Amino acid sequence: MKFASFAQGDDRRVGLVDEEAHCLRSLHPSFRTVLDVILRGKDVDAASLEQAPAVPLRQARLLAPLVPTRNIFCVGKNYREHAKEFSGSGYEAGAVKGAEIDEYPAVFSKPPSTIVGHGDPVSLHACVTSAVDYEAELAVVIGKPGSNIPRERAYQHVWGYTIVNDVTARDRQRNHKQWFLGKSLDTFCPMGPWVATADSLDPENLDVTCHVNGELRQRANTGELIFDIPTLIASISSGLELLPGDVIATGTPAGVGIGFAPPRFLNPGDEVEISISGIGTLKNSFR
Ligand code: MG
Repeated sequence: MKFASFAQGDDRRVGLVDEEAHCLRSLHPSFRTVLDVILRGKDVDAASLEQAPAVPLRQARLLAPLVPTRNIFCVGKNYREHAKEFSGSGYEAGAVKGAEIDEYPAVFSKPPSTIVGHGDPVSLHACVTSAVDYEAELAVVIGKPGSNIPRERAYQHVWGYTIVNDVTARDRQRNHKQWFLGKSLDTFCPMGPWVATADSLDPENLDVTCHVNGELRQRANTGELIFDIPTLIASISSGLELLPGDVIATGTPAGVGIGFAPPRFLNPGDEVEISISGIGTLKNSFR
């Protein structure tokens, strides 16, 4: 199943995505974001939803499926070819040739204020950066809380999966010698178009593509992750309780703008479209 948050007039609603009928089956108005479905899943009567009011997808303004109460966890350099292109780009502070692949996952975060939905504009923040880049990523949505989660039980804590674009100001990432400031500008985390529940796909075999203005830039499979999802959950939850609605962005494949010489940063009017098999397509324009 897939659940979307959407706006209907001034109302925020949640819908079960019916892709065959190109509509959203609206849940009870007490469900206002997908986080409510995560927290009150037992109250969702999937069978009766088939009779629920249908909102045509083309008429629904999709919102980010959820906004966590705290920062989004993100993983850097989690595909081999991307780790190499980043290291060789001149934009990784402290990069050491021959040491592109980390021994432990590199985890950073983006504040919830970065989150926007499918179709929302993303600001290029031209007054503070001239090097905005895209990063297509599979994101894990946590359902069951837990700390010190062992790898073998990690998937029990996953509620579903969505797509994020981990938009990055490369000059700020390089100049400040850490990642937070370059990753945390307002609107820098498009998320959506919805969340696919964990039972509906195999997260270790999903095709990820990213197109910029229709040109293929990134193509990979989540089976290529250096640190797989159980490892990420085990690492992040060590001494840190993961909570329902927490989001973990699992890292981006090769093909980002700094992988080109010269780098191909985003410009006003550019459209970035990220697709992940089993989930859908997240599209945003930059301005
Ligand atoms: Mg990233």
